[in-house]
This record gives sequence, C-alpha cells and structure tokens, in this order.
Amino acid sequence: RIPLLAFDGGGTKSLVVLTDREGNVLGQGKAGPCNYQGVGKKRAVREIAHGIREAILDLGVTEDLANLPSIEIDCAVFGIAGLDTEYDRKVIMEMVKDTLCLLTIQVGHLVVHNDGLAALLGATEGQPGVLVIAGTGSIVFGINEFGQTGRTGGWGHRVGDEGSGYWIGKQAVTAILRTNDGRGDATRLHEWVLPHMGFTHVEELFNWVYSSDYSVDKLGELSQLVSLAAIAGDQEAKRILSAASEELFVSVRAIIQQLMLTDKPFKLILQGGVLQNISLVRKQLISKIEEYAPQAQIIEMQGEPINSVTSMGLVY
Ligand code: BGC
Repeated sequence: RIPLLAFDGGGTKSLVVLTDREGNVLGQGKAGPCNYQGVGKKRAVREIAHGIREAILDLGVTEDLANLPSIEIDCAVFGIAGLDTEYDRKVIMEMVKDTLCLLTIQVGHLVVHNDGLAALLGATEGQPGVLVIAGTGSIVFGINEFGQTGRTGGWGHRVGDEGSGYWIGKQAVTAILRTNDGRGDATRLHEWVLPHMGFTHVEELFNWVYSSDYSVDKLGELSQLVSLAAIAGDQEAKRILSAASEELFVSVRAIIQQLMLTDKPFKLILQGGVLQNISLVRKQLISKIEEYAPQAQIIEMQGEPINSVTSMGLVY
C-alpha cells in the first residue's frame, strides 16, 4: 500500500513519483508527452501507463514488467496539460481511470487537475498566488484570498500557448521562411535551426512541418536555439523572445485583475523550461511584473513542477 502517487504530465515529458506520508520518494518514473490535444488519446494513455509502470518497477518489488503486483494507493494526484475545459476533464478522467484499471491499481482518492493548477496549489498551499508555466505549452493560473481560482492563456498549440517553447519555435520557423522570401527582417536563425534538424535547405524545414515526423514538442525544442541565436546577437531572435515575455506578462496582468490581486502581497511563481532556461524571457518578464505589481513576491522555481504536485498531494 502506497500513500501517494503524484503525476505531472506536460507537453514534452511526464514525471511520476510514489511517496510515503512524509513525501519521501519511494519510486519514480518518466514518460513522454501526455497532452492529448497534442499527441492524441492513445499515445497519452500509453505515456501515463509507461510512467506509472516505471515508478512501480523502481519500488523494487519486481523486475518483471509483465507481472507487476496489484497495488493500492491512498491518494493519486494528476496534473495534466490539456485539461482546459469540463469536456477535457471527462476525457482525461476516463483516460486516467482506464490506465489505473489496466495496471490493476486501486486508488482511494483520485484528484485530476490541469498541470498549472496542480502546481499552483502545491506551491502556494492555497494561499494567494499566481503561477506562470512556460514549457512546451504555456498557461497562467491564480488563486486569491477567497480561494477563487482563474486562468488565462494556455489554449493549446493550435490557437494559443503564447510565450511557450512551442510558440517561440513556431515564430522562429516563420521568421526563417519570411527571410528566405526576402520579406521579414534579416535573421541568421536558420544557421542554428537547420543543422539541429539535420537539414541543409529551408525547404526541408518547411516540408518537415507538414510531415508525419512533425510534433509540437519537437517544434518546442527549437526555442533553445532561438535563445542561442539571441545571445549571439540575432535581432529577430531577440524580438521573438521579447514578444514571448510580453505575451506572458499580458496573461499575468489579466489574472491579477481578474482575481483582484492588485493591492495585497502574493507569491508569483515562474515555472517551466522556457522560464528556467531562457534568461532573456525570464528577466524581461520579471522586470515587467516588478513594475506592474511590486506587491508580488517573485519565486523562480528551480525544480520540476512534479515537486509542487507532490506537495499538493501530501495535503490530502
Ligand atoms: C495546455 C494547458 C497546459 C499548458 C501548460 C497548454 O498547451 O493547453 O492545458 O496547462 O499547456 O502545460
């Protein structure tokens, strides 16, 4: 019998931990993306199952994948990207329950939230706060002193996720195509992007976008190259990263207004690969927030969001 299973499922990777009542890790697992809007339900279920299986194997109770013991878990908390509406909640709840059933895991208390909300609740323990996630996708969640929660952005790769790794990657490809046409401002972004993808011509990059090899998380990976190009002085790369920080700031400002967090102190948590690894986006976002909301206590999270999801689970 395991006290807690915490699961953080993002647009590029998913992490799972099994812990005791004090939060000491007993087993952990890792899997690929599980946002069903990006990778489809089938793949998402496969990744959820894979991550949990790995964590159970890590307990050391068996080495035989085919014969995992049936396990009882007191509380399982899932923070899953792609849970944006009530409809998504039903779809994802079904996916999670099917997976648990498949793995013969019985859960006493099952909590399924959006990844941003789970991380926010874990990081603030229900106190007023705002959490910005900019990883492969992006979203801003907040909670006020009355326990009201709100979100802005994060409407997935097709119509939203401004300021995310995916969004930055897409802007980079667009900029490369524009420059190649002789339209946009000159950029040397292709010098980073093409070799990374194993291409020599811009047309190969374009064909990849419409090939079966294309994926949201691969496009998201390009954000790191945009960062390198910006550091090397590429003006277009700098413009893209500034636009990303502005988009994230606009979401933060909207949530501060929506939840009336304008005059009291609150924690503002920055999380996700873009904010952890791309200092230009992080620094610009921080200075905009400091100017607009000096009452915000900015916390730059170093670890993975799974730690916050675990803290949230320990409260149950
Ligand atoms: C998803 C959100 C998620 C966000 C951050 C977006 O692509 O639509 O549900 O919270 O990414 O992972």
